[in-house]
Amino acid sequence: MKKIETNSPEETFQIGEQIGKEALQGQVYCINGDLGVGKTVFTQGFARGLSITDAVNSPTFTIIQEYTDGRLPLYHFDVYRIGDIEEMEEIGYEEYFFGEGICLIEWAALIQELIPQNAIWITIKKNLEKGLDYREIVVEGNNL
Ligand code: ADP
Ligand code: MG
Repeated sequence: MKKIETNSPEETFQIGEQIGKEALQGQVYCINGDLGVGKTVFTQGFARGLSITDAVNSPTFTIIQEYTDGRLPLYHFDVYRIGDIEEMEEIGYEEYFFGEGICLIEWAALIQELIPQNAIWITIKKNLEKGLDYREIVVEGNNL
């Protein structure tokens, strides 16, 4: 378990970038935390760390967005609006979760039962006592 604190979106981006640089083929990153906490900011940094140059945003209407111009393919999921697990089956999630690229799943806790055992869990939290821009980022699982 690793705990990191940031005080700006840029810092959270940098943490994502660092983790993205070290990311390995086949890994699944589960990003959790409330709306507006910085999951997408982290993901944008993570994509940069994979040398992805395409613009990364939350794939709000598509569940999944693929980025293939980086060091490894990145499959970016945002499952916030998912109705039930069947929707994941319809998009063929197993091809991605157990595939050759890297998966990053915003709101992964909502589909916890589908997440591979060796996934890396990242939780971002605010703490208003420490300021509006403060975030605590906890990284757990796999080889960390
Ligand atoms: P989420 O994807 O979790 O819903 P976003 O990444 O889209 O959240 O938005 C996070 C918002 O919080 C952005 O407007 C960003 O500028 C702001 N923010 C403020 N401080 C931080 C921080 N330390 N880390 C990340 N984002 C921050
Ligand atoms: Mg988001």
